[in-house]
Amino acid sequence: MKPTLIPQPREIICSGGASALPENASVTFVNKPELPDEAYELKIENGAAEIAASSKAGVFYAAATLSQLRANGAVGDMLIRDEPAYPYRGFLIDSCRHFYRVNELKSVIDAAARFKLNRFHWHLTDDQGWRVEIKRYPKLTEIGSRRSGSHFGGVDEGGPYVGYFTQDEIREIVDYCMERFIEVVPEIDMPGHFTAALAAFPEFGCTGEHMEPAQKEGIYPNVMCVGNDGAVAFVKNVLDEVCELFPGKYVHIGGDEAPRTRWSRCEKCNAKMKALGITDYDALQGCFIEEIAEYLVSKGKTAVTWNESLKGGRLSPEHVVVQRWMDRKNLCEAFAKKGGKVIESDFYHYYFDYPFGMTPLKKAFKYDPASKHREAGLVGVEGALWTEYVRTFDDLCEKLFPRILTVAERGWSGSPKRDYAEFRAAAESLIPFLNEQGIPALPPDRWDPAPLKRIKEVRAFFKGPLNNDLIGQMRENKK
Ligand SMILES: [Zn+2]
Repeated sequence: MKPTLIPQPREIICSGGASALPENASVTFVNKPELPDEAYELKIENGAAEIAASSKAGVFYAAATLSQLRANGAVGDMLIRDEPAYPYRGFLIDSCRHFYRVNELKSVIDAAARFKLNRFHWHLTDDQGWRVEIKRYPKLTEIGSRRSGSHFGGVDEGGPYVGYFTQDEIREIVDYCMERFIEVVPEIDMPGHFTAALAAFPEFGCTGEHMEPAQKEGIYPNVMCVGNDGAVAFVKNVLDEVCELFPGKYVHIGGDEAPRTRWSRCEKCNAKMKALGITDYDALQGCFIEEIAEYLVSKGKTAVTWNESLKGGRLSPEHVVVQRWMDRKNLCEAFAKKGGKVIESDFYHYYFDYPFGMTPLKKAFKYDPASKHREAGLVGVEGALWTEYVRTFDDLCEKLFPRILTVAERGWSGSPKRDYAEFRAAAESLIPFLNEQGIPALPPDRWDPAPLKRIKEVRAFFKGPLNNDLIGQMRENKK
């Protein structure tokens, strides 16, 4: 019988030998330089295991496969030849709206690594909180990490809600990830989602007005003043520390959901447009993101931005990787045509903060990210967990697991090598494996609710004074 693994390896050859691998079996390692990075071969024969790889990551993934095989019971003789389809296989956790501490993050990271995910996209700044310590600007966390109340979805959670990750804690997470071959991609969101920064430094907004970090979900008009040279220098100084803290290649600079109301009435922003010879605000955002991306290139990094920043037509495919979440005009594809690289995080399939009624496991599994990208340029996939409505760590885990496993499967296997029923059975068999790592997963009878149940779940989720977020997204769609 073929073993059930997630992600499904490229090739499994079962030799029919039934000699089970004992707990204390010897594992030997062979360096095989001709194998690509992250690829491995795992041979189980005569009660011993042999791992061949050209990189430490390959050895790590072979060990991950072996631990899943063991979790599934007796391991017979077999040869597995395996390598990933995409180099970028990510999961996003938003630590701004609600956040979870280092040890909790570690258990999610550990579980993700066991399914061969290799990017942790850490959303660290937003309207509702600034969660990363920046030594040069202590006010960012003194003021920006504290909101006096929380009213997401109209629910009064009391207050205040306060906290951030110190640089030591960040380094602890980065090291923990590196040991598991996961690169942390920090996100410092600009020029929108900037209220918490402006709470600390109102002078970097267009109006200079004083404000507090936001207490509800939604899209706020409090954007950065991109016409203010001091504000631009400020974000570059912040990025200097971020680049030091996070040794990986990518730095995410947001670039999503930035309303134009403040810019349109701002002398500095309009003067900047004149100086740049541009006449629309999409181009103003594009020029700003491109400037920051070039700055990151000068520091040996690559910027990632959400797809909205493509609207201004200013991004260079050499400087920026674009993350697609909602792109009705297929700007990502046009970007790819020019040689640009894209990460796929489709809102309707890979946003796991929504209930299973809206995004059942089967729907996420069936999604084919390559279908959105007829042009080459897809570097990988990422599942997102925003936390406006995630108020407990258990809820965070249950929203992510098992849905994030569909991202792990796509990212590693590319086009599916098995049907949904087989994938689902594999996921079910691996639940105890997740639980052992301190990760509660949603029970299987709730993974694919029946149609009526789906409607009920979605209604229950969106009822009440919600949902500015959804209204904002709808408005965004219409543009
Ligand atoms: Zn301005």
